[in-house]
Amino acid sequence: MYERHGFSKMEVLYSSTRGAGKKLTASQAILQGLSEDGGLFVPDHIPALECGIEELAGQTYQEIAYQVMKLFLTDYTEQELKNCIDRAYDSKFDTEVIAPLVEAEGTYYLELFHGATIAFKDMALSILPHLMITAARKNHVQNEIVILTATSGDTGKAALAGFADVKGTKIIVFYPKNGVSPIQEKQMVTQKGKNTFVVGIHGNFDDAQTGVKQLFNDKELAQEMADAGLQFSSANSINIGRLVPQIVYYVYAYAKLLEGGRIAAGERINVAVPTGNFGNILAAFYAKNMGVPIGKLICASNENKVLYDFFSTGRYDRNREFILTSSPSMDILISSNLERLIYRIAGKDARKNAELMAALSREGSYQITDQMQAELDDFYGNYADEEETAARIRELYEKTGYVLDTHTAVASAVYQKYAAETGDTAKTVIASTASPFKFTRSVMNAIDPKYDQMSDFELVDELSRIGNVEIPNAIQEIRTAPVIHDSVCDKAEMKAVVKRFLGIHA
Ligand SMILES: *Cc1c(COP(=O)(O)O)cnc(C)c1O
Repeated sequence: MYERHGFSKMEVLYSSTRGAGKKLTASQAILQGLSEDGGLFVPDHIPALECGIEELAGQTYQEIAYQVMKLFLTDYTEQELKNCIDRAYDSKFDTEVIAPLVEAEGTYYLELFHGATIAFKDMALSILPHLMITAARKNHVQNEIVILTATSGDTGKAALAGFADVKGTKIIVFYPKNGVSPIQEKQMVTQKGKNTFVVGIHGNFDDAQTGVKQLFNDKELAQEMADAGLQFSSANSINIGRLVPQIVYYVYAYAKLLEGGRIAAGERINVAVPTGNFGNILAAFYAKNMGVPIGKLICASNENKVLYDFFSTGRYDRNREFILTSSPSMDILISSNLERLIYRIAGKDARKNAELMAALSREGSYQITDQMQAELDDFYGNYADEEETAARIRELYEKTGYVLDTHTAVASAVYQKYAAETGDTAKTVIASTASPFKFTRSVMNAIDPKYDQMSDFELVDELSRIGNVEIPNAIQEIRTAPVIHDSVCDKAEMKAVVKRFLGIHA
């Protein structure tokens, strides 16, 4: 599985999972976001870590970020990359360690929610604007960059926070009007920054994402934008500028476990990830392929269990009811980043992958071959329903006092199923993707139904008290912040809305 190579300065180039177009440098791929043929950019090989993990054990988050990212973003200079890293992982995070590991019941929760918007999207979206501006400069791009994003809740706010008032950029975020938590919505509609636009749509996340993809592929719109000195780029998790920074924290987690004497050098760990668009767990898979001793990649779904069904049957089928759950950032029926894995298990055969993706958009489903399915051995898929998720929050709180958010609880419940089914006792890291303060009502109701009487902000205070954790800044801020964005539109109006915001008139 490991692709080792002897040269430390081997360039990594990026090509589309669907085969069209030439190979791009990392900075070009970051600027472009999505390939013209609708495919995703993939590195032509996964570089191996240069220094041993033991060597990384004593290093800071920023140092490890550099060691990992330089191997993928090979056309960035050392200075450029270190600059981006220093601007991203600074005091916007409320802890110097950036991503703390918390032990509970012998399992390690990797807290990825200490950034500006208290969800794991901050890990990548705090650096993406800097990678993108640097990429524009490197490639002599004069146009203003317009970030267009569909969000199931957390991406939107994290992207807004990352890009707000970044010179040379504008950002437009579409979210499903009734598909995000009240706190998520409040976070987005109170976003400051003259270059930010937030719009609710009547529809679910997949509608928003499909609409955004159509706008990206709209040649006429692209021309009108170019005439106005504008060009689109994507901050969605399909951008390799999001994927690469996410690999970092898996390397970091391993290094910290080693440093703390929790594991021996070379000892295999498992990683469990609450999954939606398949970006976070794909990053863990890339970390494994770089040489981090990771055993199973445990892919946890909520009741929208497309991925569980896929891993158990080899058939991906989005034709099913879309269920709104208490873990809305995982309410997804088309996991975009899975395409990168499909491409790989198809033997890097872009034509084969393109056929499957065509079937997905035509029929809403595809079936992989037995041979491809055999390549999925690194993964274990399962899901937790609403009741199991709530029970997990309550149980862990009652036993240890540690409060999980709903997404992390899905992963924790699925990890328990995995451990019970397999008897595997390897140390396990669970990606903790959001602060419980972001989903306070669901979390508190899980602990005790009596809390349902309280208002959102009373619940925040109560959570702080019972969980013995300080209220994060991101929550304090929105208590009094005025609503700045109140636009709502239909799916069919997305293009018109974008043109209006950008001042482009037909
Ligand atoms: C985005 C998100 C996820 C899902 O991550 P993917 O990379 O899309 O699989 C899980 N939990 C939270 C809190 C998120 O914001």
